[in-house]
Amino acid sequence: MRLKNKPWAHELVEAHPEKVLIRPEGKIDWQKRFTNPDLPLRIEVGSGKGQFIIRQAQAHPKINFVAIELQTSAAGVILRDELKLALPNLQILLGDGKMVDTYFARESVDLVYLNFSDPWPKTRHEKRRLTYRDFLRSYENILQIDGHIEFKTDNRGLFEYSLVSMNNYAMKFDYVNLDLHNSDDEVVAQNIQTEYEEKFSRRGHPIYALHAHFQK
Ligand code: SAM
Repeated sequence: MRLKNKPWAHELVEAHPEKVLIRPEGKIDWQKRFTNPDLPLRIEVGSGKGQFIIRQAQAHPKINFVAIELQTSAAGVILRDELKLALPNLQILLGDGKMVDTYFARESVDLVYLNFSDPWPKTRHEKRRLTYRDFLRSYENILQIDGHIEFKTDNRGLFEYSLVSMNNYAMKFDYVNLDLHNSDDEVVAQNIQTEYEEKFSRRGHPIYALHAHFQK
């Protein structure tokens, strides 16, 4: 989803290389970028304006997080809010989630979050869906043996597509929920809502969720 252009965002992200990496080339030494390098590492691909990842970083100071975003305007909003909070465990990467295995070392990531990813409903745009097999391969390369993906959406078409795509990739499902907000379990109790999740659940859309891991 294209965010309204924020003309200030470009300058802001360029002014903070300690917080934002802009389309980096090659592996990043993430240990050097975090105050506490020994913590588990979790990433969100397609963070939008960052509500979810900022709340995660606040709630879990003993975990390091990286927000990955394609759009400069979105990365600028995350950075603006992050600078006010000065979170030592949150970094931002302006780049393409399909390339995560060029940014992160093999088996270095504990969890990949995909939240309300753009559905790209036209078949000719399938390759842009964040659960298309090329993306899955990239996540597989960086996830630890016991790592997994957590995916939420209100879009039934994208959810069904993702179940099939992950199943075809021989992934195993640990959790599937077709109405997250009207359930009562441990996942719901720990759920941190994204901006889109709040918006669409207010409109009465059911929220679909799944957790899955690769067979390594
Ligand atoms: N996750 C947020 C939420 O739930 O509120 C934002 C959802 S928004 C619909 C999807 C976001 O994913 C957009 O900000 C878009 O720029 C980003 N995005 C789409 N494809 C991407 C890719 N290949 N790599 C990184 N970000 C991507």
